[in-house]
Amino acid sequence: MNLVANSHKMTAAEQDPRWMALVHRDPAFDGKFVYSVKTTGVYCRPTCPSRLAKPENIAFHADCGEAERAGFRPCLRCRPNEASLAERHAAVIAEACRRIETAEELPVLDALAKSVGMSPYHFHRLFKATTGLTPKAYGAAHRARRIRDQLAQGQGSVTEAIYDAGFNSSSRFYETSNKVLGMTPSAFRAGGVQAEIKFAVAQCTLGAIVVAASTKGVCAILLGDDPDELVRDLQDRFPKADLIGGDPEFEALVAKVVGFVEAPAIGLDLPLDVRGTAFQERVWQALRDIPAGETASYSDIAARIGAPKAVRAVAQACAANKIAVAIPCHRVVRQDGDLSGYRWGVERKRALLQSERG
Ligand SMILES: [Zn+2]
Repeated sequence: MNLVANSHKMTAAEQDPRWMALVHRDPAFDGKFVYSVKTTGVYCRPTCPSRLAKPENIAFHADCGEAERAGFRPCLRCRPNEASLAERHAAVIAEACRRIETAEELPVLDALAKSVGMSPYHFHRLFKATTGLTPKAYGAAHRARRIRDQLAQGQGSVTEAIYDAGFNSSSRFYETSNKVLGMTPSAFRAGGVQAEIKFAVAQCTLGAIVVAASTKGVCAILLGDDPDELVRDLQDRFPKADLIGGDPEFEALVAKVVGFVEAPAIGLDLPLDVRGTAFQERVWQALRDIPAGETASYSDIAARIGAPKAVRAVAQACAANKIAVAIPCHRVVRQDGDLSGYRWGVERKRALLQSERG
């Protein structure tokens, strides 16, 4: 008589929180742990395509070292001790990004693909899936960033800065300067003279993000650890501008866009600076065509990303985004000590600052 067969008792493996990751072969857990199979003496990734062993023969290990010390050897199918496919792909894409960054002009797709040993079609698809951008958009983002940094540093002429950043024609650059700088190059160089700049602070997977826009378009997207430092950085870049924080519509817009472009699966294995450039550009792209101060509806955003039917998915992405629009905007004052603008009145700003000083 076999009583056990009728009353299935949960094994230790099944009670382990990692068990469900195994059952679903969840790629999010790849690299987070490995599991061993007593009967075969082998250990595997959570995503191993082999048939799942009986739970009573399975044990979990934090990493390969732990599994090997327990006497198990790596599975030849999922190769848990080697770089995962995602890691290998990320390495290839990171290499291509470096190539794009260091080239005088944007390399053509065929040459880029060849340099990493892939077909142009496969390479383009992988690049887009890994960074969220096309190679061309990544190249443009890198050059735009370079020109903003050079203009902000204030060395050389505006024309020199344009050429140095890899734009081979300054007239072509001027045509698009509002898109790249949010204002004319000389106004940018002059610290945003006479410009009114709205800004919002938000949190994303890469840390804090500051988005700033003039009436002409987005003029800065800054990423970093400390929101206060980012706001100070913004102020240093545009010392002559009227910085206006705390505009609820602009904050809501930024929160929506950041939430929308925030796809945690994108670029996790990429070097941080590449991820930063790609993330900034995705935010930039989403915001670029929206006039400052205007909001976008979920259907606007869905249409803008070429998926007009994905309104619900966009709304869900926005709702899932636990954004902290914590803006110490009343603490933003001009460098000369002038209180500058404040949405709720300069007097209130003065009072806030005074009460903080104690
Ligand atoms: Zn395996």
